[in-house]
Amino acid sequence: MAKKTICIDFDGVLADYSEGFQGKDVFGEMIPNADIATKVLKNNGWTIIVYTTRPVTDALKDWLKENKITYDHINENPDQPKDTSEKLMADIYLDDRAMCFRGTWNEWAVREIAEFTPACLTKKKEKAAFEAAYKEGDIWKRGNEKRIKVEGVSR
Ligand SMILES: [Mg+2]
Repeated sequence: MAKKTICIDFDGVLADYSEGFQGKDVFGEMIPNADIATKVLKNNGWTIIVYTTRPVTDALKDWLKENKITYDHINENPDQPKDTSEKLMADIYLDDRAMCFRGTWNEWAVREIAEFTPACLTKKKEKAAFEAAYKEGDIWKRGNEKRIKVEGVSR
């Protein structure tokens, strides 16, 4: 497998961001399995860059270490040619606020942009809908599984 580079966003991908920005050294809980996934990627030859709008502080590095996130760099790609901009070169960007451009600008692409919701906000919406439904007793059982209806969330 050819060596590849992935830029992984911090907030909303490695760390929960459902409460939004709370301060430069205030971080959400690790999103489940982020530690395992980054380890698997690394074991498969990926160069992992944590790509974040946050400043690279000791607190950020401590959080990554404490949560056993495997990575090579933060906000830099030392393998990048010198005559390029600050945008990091990567084969893949993994970001909760990204969409994949499929090669054509059309009505669907514009609609998808208009309707885009980051995963952390979808989760927050689901949680709020669940709590509201629970209070109203609007939960129905399906087998042994409790489900709720959430507008705008497909499953
Ligand atoms: Mg994010």
